[in-house]
Amino acid sequence: MIPLDWVHVPALLYPSSLLRLCCLPIGYAALAWVWSRPRADWVEGATLPLAVIMMMTGGGILGLLGEEQTLYRYLTATLLAGSTALLLFPVTLAWTIGGAGASIACFVGFGLFDPASPVKDTLVFALFFALILGAVVRARRTKMILQQHAFLLNLRGALQERALAGANARLALLANTDALTGLPNRRAFEDEAARLWSDPSNPPQSFGIVLFDIDHFKRLNDTAGHAEGDRCLAAIARAIREVLPSTGMCARYGGEEFIAILRNAGPRDVLRFAEHLRATIEALAWPNPGIKAPVTVSLGLAVGETDRRSETLAALIDLADAALYRSKAEGRNRIVPSWEPTLGEAIDRPLLPAQLCA
Ligand code: GH3
Ligand code: MG
Ligand code: MG
Repeated sequence: MIPLDWVHVPALLYPSSLLRLCCLPIGYAALAWVWSRPRADWVEGATLPLAVIMMMTGGGILGLLGEEQTLYRYLTATLLAGSTALLLFPVTLAWTIGGAGASIACFVGFGLFDPASPVKDTLVFALFFALILGAVVRARRTKMILQQHAFLLNLRGALQERALAGANARLALLANTDALTGLPNRRAFEDEAARLWSDPSNPPQSFGIVLFDIDHFKRLNDTAGHAEGDRCLAAIARAIREVLPSTGMCARYGGEEFIAILRNAGPRDVLRFAEHLRATIEALAWPNPGIKAPVTVSLGLAVGETDRRSETLAALIDLADAALYRSKAEGRNRIVPSWEPTLGEAIDRPLLPAQLCA
């Protein structure tokens, strides 16, 4: 701006330098400091008229120091520059109007102060600029409304996204959970077990499968009623959750049939878990009036290694199913592994009264 002042009116070189290099930077630094962090609305708002007054005063002083007619040129140029501040300062509409009013007031003030400026010209120009600044204020208002709309639309979008994510999570939970027992359902089990079995990021490990089924459940239903059967299923699910290790997952596999998968579990771990589970369910002592004895479960076990190419998860479940079938055939309330237990495993596993008799 200093070279422009100098080309325009050479005599303005020194006052322009003094003003633009010394005085105005102090004002701009104060403005930057105020806007460096959030302030009260009125503090931020007041900076706009103050900034406009500072600019108009600078322009007015230079205009008065110049030749005749220089004042109008400086005031007009400064007023146009100030109108950009009206558009840019993110203050409330009232302060934007205040800024426009301050511009016009400065224009009129300097015009009337300068004896070389005819009063009529000053007032006509002031009216003309007031109309222009009125349009600027209106543009600022439109911009604010559009900004508010955009903000509200973003907010609504974000809220809808959150609600949708929550609904999806609830739906996924519902789709994967058995309503009666709260355990994962068969589909959830199959997805999770297949993922665990074939996940290439998992190191090779052995998996245990425990398939178990409530004994004589139909008789419980037939004698105590279906509702009692439901309560029994829920009680057994609670017992399962109590004994299930953190490395395991258990699901309701069918009507009164459950399946558990144990990660990193060898034959001994699987046998131990199965016995703990069997004994816990027996200890519930849930009456089954159909057989005049407490509710028990029969269990079939299988163990497989993920890195054995010949083994598949489905084949392992089939093995456990065949073992469960044998467990039923051998008299129920017992554990039948699909492998030949070693001596150590057999010692670990307490014999059932029926097996002792046999
Ligand atoms: P087993 O010892 O050979 O397994 O005999 P079981 O009576 O338990 O087996 P069966 O397959 O003959 O009968 C299973 C019963 O489980 C029949 C079915 O009505 C009942 N059942 C299946 N799902 C539910 C359920 O959600 N609630 C209730 N109350 N009963 C169910
Ligand atoms: Mg059954
Ligand atoms: Mg069954």
